Amino acid sequence: MKRALCLFLVLAAAALAGAISLAETHGICRVCGKWVVLTKEGAGLNRDWSGTCGRCGLKEYLNGAAAEDEDPSETVDRLGDESRKGWPGPEEVRYVRLEDGTLIDMRHFLAAADVGQDHNHALAEVLGWLVEVAQWVSGEESGSPLGGNEDLSSNQAGAVFADDDLDADGGGLGDQVVDYLESLGHGGISGASGSKDGE
Ligand SMILES: [Zn+2]
Repeated sequence: MKRALCLFLVLAAAALAGAISLAETHGICRVCGKWVVLTKEGAGLNRDWSGTCGRCGLKEYLNGAAAEDEDPSETVDRLGDESRKGWPGPEEVRYVRLEDGTLIDMRHFLAAADVGQDHNHALAEVLGWLVEVAQWVSGEESGSPLGGNEDLSSNQAGAVFADDDLDADGGGLGDQVVDYLESLGHGGISGASGSKDGE
């Protein structure tokens, strides 16, 4: 009887361990080697996956976005124009999350950065707010002029970045944006995804 109970406990422990490892599938960022959660189901490590973590993905996209002979400021110009029509980059790096949970919508960030470098950032913030109102009036889910979402802070971050930080003669746009986002006091970039809730 004792032996049966012992066997039962061993099996129960194994099942529990199995259930825990079934919770997430991981991959390894091919740039920095950090573990990345791929799905909330499945098991263990997917060795065939060759993607990047959100931080490296954002850096890679923006560093690679420059057209021939374009400096970072000209790239921001072009990506800002494109961002006003839709998100021009890969889905998985649109929403960038910082360590304390702050969310940056890179579409808003780039659209405001483009305005911020030509004018001053107060104007960019006002324009961002007008876009908010227009979205809210037309019933779009993300527009919330009374606050409570990340669009306004993304606009502000983009406008201030372009106005104060962006260096046309500096390094790649991706390096500059990542350095700037991580200097805001919200911690490092902990991930990026195609939707606000991190899926
Ligand atoms: Zn990485």
